[in-house]
Amino acid sequence: MSAPAFRRLALIGIGLIGGSIALAARRAGIAAEIVAATRSAETAATAMRLKLVDRCDTDVAGVCAGADLVIVCTPVGACGETARLIAPSLQPGCIVSDVGSVKQAVIRDMAPHLPAHVHFVPAHPVAGTENSGPEAGFAELFDGRWCILTPLPGTPVEPVDRLEAFWKALGSHVERLDAADHDRILAITSHLPHLIAYTIVGTADDLGGHLNSEVLRFAAGGFRDFTRIAASDPTMWRDVFMNNREAVLEVLQRFQEDLFYLQRAIRWGEGDKLFDLFTRTRDIRRALIHLKQA
Ligand code: NAP
Repeated sequence: MSAPAFRRLALIGIGLIGGSIALAARRAGIAAEIVAATRSAETAATAMRLKLVDRCDTDVAGVCAGADLVIVCTPVGACGETARLIAPSLQPGCIVSDVGSVKQAVIRDMAPHLPAHVHFVPAHPVAGTENSGPEAGFAELFDGRWCILTPLPGTPVEPVDRLEAFWKALGSHVERLDAADHDRILAITSHLPHLIAYTIVGTADDLGGHLNSEVLRFAAGGFRDFTRIAASDPTMWRDVFMNNREAVLEVLQRFQEDLFYLQRAIRWGEGDKLFDLFTRTRDIRRALIHLKQA
């Protein structure tokens, strides 16, 4: 058996994504040692109890010493401050990455703090659940899912290739994208759907009175699926919208126009317009199933 590709993997933040990376990395045997640091002593104790990593404490800087791969797994809004804290302990040649759902803002916030002797390769595993915290992590989370790398221009090929091999070992398919393209694509495929789910569940809750309890009592397929999405972590999603503002506002504008088109079709009894759209969208769902992404 060949030696692990990384000597020491350090995870900063050990919730759903950090915990899942730890478990998947161990399953793959890709790192000789896996260590982590988190903000609270309570989360660190949980991570140790669950045996997610070999060592976990709250010393964010200390845990990076001797690591050849550091992955920041905190909410997007905390990535800049985390980079500032870990910078002095990063060893030369270390690969520093992240898992943030937004890429341009994370690059803007992290890159200025990182020393020239490390390789910064931002990444986003497009895999998750509505659960958070270390207990939500599981080794299979990334199996068959995409991980998008958004390397900065001028980054040497070798660290990007190594990070790609890391994510493939964790079960992911890997694609490289420009950070701005990533943010535009995710705005429509992930951020807008979450915003819609939060809105629908909020609107239903606002109906008030006896209707409110009836809505919950008869929650059927569509609404129930929205409540699952709307249960996603409030901190994470606040940070996503605060940090992908332009792209989200752009797709939101287009979405509102399309919604008005449907509103008008319903008002004027133009059933053919609804039928045509619903037929087109059903084909998209079938294509997704074909691509094994549903
Ligand atoms: P999570 O389960 O809530 O875990 C967050 C981790 O970050 C915990 O260790 C937490 O520490 C720490 N943390 C929270 N706020 C912090 C702060 N202000 N400063 C420093 N550390 C802080 O979150 P997650 O779902 O793993 O998400 C982590 C990242 O993955 C986010 O950037 C998110 O955009 C990205 N992501 C999430 C998903 C998803 O579906 N959840 C999918 C892809 C990518 P304590 O518990 O000790 O406070």
